[in-house]
Amino acid sequence: MAEVLVVVDASGGTVRKVTLEMLTMARALGEPSAVVLGAPGTAAPLTAALGEYGAAKVYVAEHDDLDGFLVAPKAEVLAALVAEKSPAAVLLSSGQEGKEIAGRLAVKLGNGLLTDVSALDADGTATQSVFAGSWVVKSKVTTGVPLVTVRPNSLTPEAAPAAAEQVGVEVAVSDKAKKVAVVERVTAQKSARPELTEASVVVSGGRGVGSAENFALVEELADLLGGAVGASRAATDGGFYPHKYQVGQTGSTVSPQLYIALGISGAIQHRAGMQTAKRIVAVNKDDEAPIFDLADFGVVGDLFKVVPQAVEGIKNR
Ligand code: FAD
Repeated sequence: MAEVLVVVDASGGTVRKVTLEMLTMARALGEPSAVVLGAPGTAAPLTAALGEYGAAKVYVAEHDDLDGFLVAPKAEVLAALVAEKSPAAVLLSSGQEGKEIAGRLAVKLGNGLLTDVSALDADGTATQSVFAGSWVVKSKVTTGVPLVTVRPNSLTPEAAPAAAEQVGVEVAVSDKAKKVAVVERVTAQKSARPELTEASVVVSGGRGVGSAENFALVEELADLLGGAVGASRAATDGGFYPHKYQVGQTGSTVSPQLYIALGISGAIQHRAGMQTAKRIVAVNKDDEAPIFDLADFGVVGDLFKVVPQAVEGIKNR
């Protein structure tokens, strides 16, 4: 069976959910093998989960150079592996690092690249949502090994136990790839909430929330539902909530099971980041707000009346 390389996205010794989604998606094309790129010791805590979700092999490329510089060394090592293995495809996550590695790989190898893919057919046809989500496109790479970046939360990971046989990869990084070194790492403040792009519930607030203080209401609903908090650009630009939580064209793309939009009008640039959510609930006092064109459930009303009632209702369940 053809081999499909899945480049592992992990954090703090844990495989991110998108990696499990990629392993599941890869099975449509062939037999997935995981590729771990990082400092010595990176692969060990990840291997069990990779095997559980179908990795027949785990290629382990561990070297301080893969951790001490930005993505160029990883792209170089991966390019050599792809040239050696000629897999049916290479899947990477559609995060910042995955996209940058994929872009560099495409240039190095002269291969076709598809980004933000949400589904892959057995014949390699990919589904993408483009132009801020206005179009759904089916496309296929016709040159070289297809490089595919996968949008998180595109599918439900399915376990399929496999051997996860560890295979060492020789790491030889050129001086050319070691131009941008990591000088400091700042650990992001740990939040008890799930990560925005991986959460199965996202509760977002917009300009209608009115202030940073009022975002406590958005947070309360999110916490009751075990969800993440998001925000529209009007809310982040207005200083109501930090920019890193912005959802949309110039923020994060989310695809949760449930997306709740509070006081958000539903501008095209916001929709670009959330319209693939499985269920959309909107609360807006304007019954003509475009978000209602998209919503599965809409409440026309003042969020400061509706949300406390919802909170109360959930607490009483
Ligand atoms: P508004 O459009 O002002 O809507 C506020 C809504 O709240 C209104 O519908 C109002 O009826 C409702 N409301 C007010 N008070 C209440 C209340 N008490 N109860 C209930 N409802 C209430 N936007 C993004 O979100 N993400 C992006 O990534 C993004 N990228 C952009 C990139 C570009 C290049 C450009 C040009 C714009 C981008 N925008 C983005 C901005 C986008 O066009 C909109 O301006 C923005 O999404 C509006 O945010 P909003 O819905 O919170 O505010």
